[in-house]
Amino acid sequence: MFDLSNISVVLVNTSHPGNIGATARAMKNMGLSKLVLVQPENFPSGVAVGRAVSATDILDAARVVETLQEAVADCGLVIGASARSRRIPWPMLSPQACAEKVIREKDTIRVALVFGREDSGLNNEELQLCHFHVQIPADENYPSLNLAAAVMVICYEVRKAALDRIGTAVRAEDEFWDQEKATGEQVEHFYTHLERVMVKIDFHDPENPRQLMQRMRRLFSRIRIDVMEMNILRGILTNIEFHIKDQDK
Ligand code: SAH
Repeated sequence: MFDLSNISVVLVNTSHPGNIGATARAMKNMGLSKLVLVQPENFPSGVAVGRAVSATDILDAARVVETLQEAVADCGLVIGASARSRRIPWPMLSPQACAEKVIREKDTIRVALVFGREDSGLNNEELQLCHFHVQIPADENYPSLNLAAAVMVICYEVRKAALDRIGTAVRAEDEFWDQEKATGEQVEHFYTHLERVMVKIDFHDPENPRQLMQRMRRLFSRIRIDVMEMNILRGILTNIEFHIKDQDK
């Protein structure tokens, strides 16, 4: 449906392999596929495979590197997820703004979403390799999410932003459509005409209509047919009638 292959999830120095597996699963659920592991403490691991369930392909394809610098070397946009605000303020995004930025830029550059260690997060040097930080607005009494849960929240926002963009494209197409949509009255004339022809060709029995006309109505309302298309269909029906008359002679 859409291509998220330019977006990587980078896990830095993860201690629990279960979190790596759960991350792979969250990524696959949300349509992401590129996982990069910076110095994982325990990988490959059966525990990761167990938690990944049907996302082991992501674990198999994961790239393992030595430093965050290496992980993001080919990325034009690097966003670090951090539960805490730091002493030196850094451009900070909400998960939604982060996702919108990622989706806007992902077709022209590679993007890295970076997540830190379970116990201490990302260190200052790593945070400074990021163009932006993203913070999930969790409860202030306990704002630190489980690593894979944080990955899920961010990946879900990315997916939602991608879906929203498809919605926008559909609206834009509507705005630039070259023909007016058919009016209710025009469509009603069409249904009358359609029904008449379907009866004439013995496709439709008015004594036993079943749900044929309802289904036809549902079909054409789903399409929101335009005036030109309506005229073409009316033309086809008229020609069918004309040919039937000829045969009757
Ligand atoms: N105790 C660590 C948090 C580690 S949680 C700390 O205070 O930094 C592991 C990782 O999950 C974090 O490094 C971060 O990338 C992500 N994470 C957890 N909670 C988050 C939140 N509220 N917002 C953004 N990222 C979060």
